[in-house]
Amino acid sequence: MSNTQKHDLLKHLPGVDSLLDQILIRDDTHTIPRRVMVSSIRTVLDDTRKQILEDRLKAIDETSLIQSIIRLAQNRIKPRLVPLINATGVVLHTNLGRALLCDDALENIKTISGSYSNLEFNIQTGKRGIRYQVVEELICELTGAQSAIVVNNNAAAVLLALNTMAQCQEVIVSRGELVEIGGSFRIPDVMTRSGCILKEVGTTNRTHPRDYEQAINENTGLLLKVHTSNYQIQGFTKSVPIADLAAIGKRCSIKVMEDLGSGTLIDFGKYGLPKEPTVKEAVASGADVITFSGDKLLGGPQAGIIVGSTDTIDRIKANPLTRALRIDKMTLAALESTLNLYRDEDRAMKEIPTLRMLTRPLEEIQTHAGQLRTLISDKQIPNLEVETADMTSRPGGGSYPALLLPTCCVTLKPGGLSVSRLEKLARFSTPPLIGRIEEDRFILDPRTIQPGQETIIADTLETIILKELND
Ligand SMILES: *Cc1c(COP(=O)(O)O)cnc(C)c1O
Repeated sequence: MSNTQKHDLLKHLPGVDSLLDQILIRDDTHTIPRRVMVSSIRTVLDDTRKQILEDRLKAIDETSLIQSIIRLAQNRIKPRLVPLINATGVVLHTNLGRALLCDDALENIKTISGSYSNLEFNIQTGKRGIRYQVVEELICELTGAQSAIVVNNNAAAVLLALNTMAQCQEVIVSRGELVEIGGSFRIPDVMTRSGCILKEVGTTNRTHPRDYEQAINENTGLLLKVHTSNYQIQGFTKSVPIADLAAIGKRCSIKVMEDLGSGTLIDFGKYGLPKEPTVKEAVASGADVITFSGDKLLGGPQAGIIVGSTDTIDRIKANPLTRALRIDKMTLAALESTLNLYRDEDRAMKEIPTLRMLTRPLEEIQTHAGQLRTLISDKQIPNLEVETADMTSRPGGGSYPALLLPTCCVTLKPGGLSVSRLEKLARFSTPPLIGRIEEDRFILDPRTIQPGQETIIADTLETIILKELND
């Protein structure tokens, strides 16, 4: 097109007001806020102008212009945080939201958040109350600890405990425990930000009690043990158990802290899973302070729980940082309901989704996989091979990676489109369906598929594959 033609075309572009008038009288646009519509019109007009100048558009079609604007505006008002179907089999998937809350917690969040509450109000005295009291007693009852406090997450718990107990002092840690947790949480960095001086002892694979003892001096503030929950050192290894570290601390009058990471309140060994230290055991070992997550093996809301001796927890409560790291009423409501279930372990195992999914019997998963395979096969999607296969998976994700369990998955091999294309289309669906690719198959692990999602999965697969094959 010549420049004159282009300018002519640009001159005939409808104005913002005229487009807005035409769009606002339609009945499919009244849920879209006016400002979103105006900004969408501007975006589409800018884009159209660019296309004309770059010779990619030779005529203006006002109807398709309006359609593009409405599509863009509808997209812009769609929620960004959306539920999805986790068919990865990873129960504690940090990127997919970690622990699913139990029904009691969900209900309690609604009850407490939609109403005024005694969050920081003592109903007996009519005076100010303490936010953490609601759960402190419960945590102490379940763990045997003297005192407890809860903060935003375990990273905050570690930061706060270190800052309270060892600011400007040395903290002795084994080189084998200087871990990085996904998402840039590194023990050495947190230590620096807490105002502590990191004193590494031992080697990557072996650390002895004498390594700690020899490093202790007049500026030692704390002995720290970090539970290496997201990796394992195997072979010629040695680490100092928390009870031995606690004994060294007592002898030298130095506080001892353990970052348990995924604290668990139940003994997974009883359910045929590899043993993880329980919070109760850590408390009984004599450590002064123990920190753990609320949304890992505990199966509750995001939170960092700190338990320990009353003198230390009181100092933590008095730290001004505590106010900056405090939990919200929604978290408190969810945590109280979740912890309450642990008073009856059978109920906890049944009603806390994380515990239920981690301990699902293989036969149940096999049956579930068979049902899902049938649902998908019944759709008779052209060229799609649907099978079930016994496999192993890591349902603990980054929180419990040592846990390797047998599972049974549905495996899909599409024809006429690649497996990676199928994975992508599934991810782009509403709700997004997240699986994994293994040996050129799209794998769906029923362990994390929630009741009722099976038909959605079958429908989704039918829709996306038929659309792809027909396009
Ligand atoms: C997961 C983990 C953390 C961080 O906990 P968040 O609750 O994710 O903040 C800290 N330390 C250890 C050992 C962990 O495993």
